[in-house]
Amino acid sequence: MTLFSPTREAALARIASVDPAEYARSRNALNGAVTQLSPYITHGFISLPEVLEGVRLHHSVRTQDKFVFELGWREYFRHVWQHRGNGIFKSLHEGVLPDEAYADEIPFDILHASTGVAAIDMAVKTLYATGYLHNHARMWLASYMVHLRKVHWRAGADWMYGHLLDGDLASNHLSWQWVGGTGSHKPYLFNAENVSRYAPSAWHSAGSVIDTTYEELDHVARSPLSVASSSVHADDSAIDEPLLLTQPPTHLNLSSPNSNTVSGRDVWLVHPWSLGELPEHLSANTVIIGVYVAEFHLAWPWSEKRWQFVNSRMAELTTERWYGNTSSIIAALENANQVSGFSEAHVTTFLPAPMLSEMTPCLFSQVDRRCDSFAKWWKVVSAG
Ligand SMILES: Cc1cc2nc3c(=O)[nH]c(=O)nc-3n(C[C@H](O)[C@H](O)[C@H](O)COP(=O)(O)OP(=O)(O)OC[C@H]3O[C@@H](n4cnc5c(N)ncnc54)[C@H](O)[C@@H]3O)c2cc1C
Repeated sequence: MTLFSPTREAALARIASVDPAEYARSRNALNGAVTQLSPYITHGFISLPEVLEGVRLHHSVRTQDKFVFELGWREYFRHVWQHRGNGIFKSLHEGVLPDEAYADEIPFDILHASTGVAAIDMAVKTLYATGYLHNHARMWLASYMVHLRKVHWRAGADWMYGHLLDGDLASNHLSWQWVGGTGSHKPYLFNAENVSRYAPSAWHSAGSVIDTTYEELDHVARSPLSVASSSVHADDSAIDEPLLLTQPPTHLNLSSPNSNTVSGRDVWLVHPWSLGELPEHLSANTVIIGVYVAEFHLAWPWSEKRWQFVNSRMAELTTERWYGNTSSIIAALENANQVSGFSEAHVTTFLPAPMLSEMTPCLFSQVDRRCDSFAKWWKVVSAG
């Protein structure tokens, strides 16, 4: 059974079971009361305001509560993306070492979950099996890759983005920069003791390279030398990395953009980040089309799991689903009566670029001046 059923009902059920007090108490633990709402939020099954309204039906929640604060992180990363645009894909500032000190390739033993560090191997296996990782596990994996194995944060971020069901370019790439020290003022480090405190025993990593002091880890992070892999040979426990696909799996049966379906009709477009409820006012003449823009998927491949998750919900909402490049989508829509649901600017720029943030309902008011730290942004939005 999949951990994430691709329905809005599943998302609403998760919202109904959120316990903000228990969340605040236990969220750092891998088996703590986290919501696992992120795939639904990323793909627009539900918006952040809907999440908070739903939780407030059962609990009193103040802006200063931990739960709202964490939702705030997502919006903060969107704020940074809106202001910096594609600048978020480069180091925001120099980290502990220059960019050139880090490799662009991810070592085999990490990709195949056979590093010999239980916390890392469990994290990779969980990521591949479920498309989800607890925040703490994401931090451990990113920290190990960047600071111990000297993998460039960007290589790690691109890889993790593809395997996550909730992959969000802003939250993902900026979190990697935060861990890596190019988006924060110090590297995020963790050791075996920290893992033992927050993870079940299968993750415990006593005797491995992370079983050391923070002082020693800081020294390693500041040295250009990568620590050796604990497993010299690919051992029996190595698992295959699921493929990351730049095109939809054929069994999804997507069509090419087709002007016949839409000619003379009102068209409502649904994209992979807007899988919430359809508006009630759609006329009988409206045809609902799902669109996947090929340029985006070529740049940012997804696991098959993610294609399936997104497409199942899209199939529920739409009569036809198209996969094609921007120009073929625009050409097919030329004779439509009226096109809405997805702005033309968005079709022409094809990326779920910062402007997508403008189309997504927000919890907090937009801040016009760029805030370079979450603390500064939070001060502005939480006062309003
Ligand atoms: C290296 C790394 C990569 C990450 N990549 C992504 C990503 O691609 N997509 C993504 O949505 N989140 C990402 N995060 C942030 C965070 O780990 C996830 O949002 C969270 O773990 C999702 O699980 P949840 O829904 O159970 O979270 P909960 O703790 O239940 O939080 C509820 C919601 O609040 C938001 N939220 C909570 N914590 C954070 C946070 N630290 N940053 C941003 N939003 C947060 C999310 O929307 C989340 O769904 C990343 C973090 C790290 C360290």
